[in-house]
Amino acid sequence: MLSMFVDFLFPPRCPSCKSYVERRGGFCGACTRRLTGLRTVARSVDAVSYLAGIWALGYYREGVRDLLRTLKYRREKSVLPYLHGMLAAGEAVLMQLPEQIVAVPVPLAPARAHERGFNQTELIFAPWLKAHGIAFESLLVRSRETAPLYEFSREERRRELRGAFVCANGAQIAGRHILLLDDIMTTGTTLLECARTLKRAGAENIYALVLASEHS
Ligand SMILES: [Zn+2]
Repeated sequence: MLSMFVDFLFPPRCPSCKSYVERRGGFCGACTRRLTGLRTVARSVDAVSYLAGIWALGYYREGVRDLLRTLKYRREKSVLPYLHGMLAAGEAVLMQLPEQIVAVPVPLAPARAHERGFNQTELIFAPWLKAHGIAFESLLVRSRETAPLYEFSREERRRELRGAFVCANGAQIAGRHILLLDDIMTTGTTLLECARTLKRAGAENIYALVLASEHS
């Protein structure tokens, strides 16, 4: 009843193009087609040897990009339902993974985590992981601050990130299957460096799932 009243006052709109939609919390049909779509991006990245598979749930384009920026820089958690809606397609990924798997978020730089107050990747994936009975463990931490990567080439990113992650104190990694999670994938360098760190600590198979990627 209350929701009908809210819908009357504030009819649900697509968060990307602002056109009216039937149900609150999703993109319109055109934006769904433009912004979402599960795909494997493993072949777009070089040196995938540490990662047994990389999947993206959506495209890092205007729409998804704005939602993520609103969450990260304006710290507005009201956009989370739209991002949560994109995870439904992840079901198909889970069917390809070993049953015993632990989810590990890519850790933020300490300064950024402190300023933001949360790791957006955890907020995006937590309800979905819980619904599927997958534990979230912060097995990785940043060992040092790194420069912002957006203007770096792939080689510069690799150099900047080398050794930037270490295993958390007392982390149980040997022999485990791990699903790395991140909000955005650009060159894949961050995921690769995380996977390299986990592999050296004895992880069995490492997979990666990101909300949005620039790769098609
Ligand atoms: Zn739309």
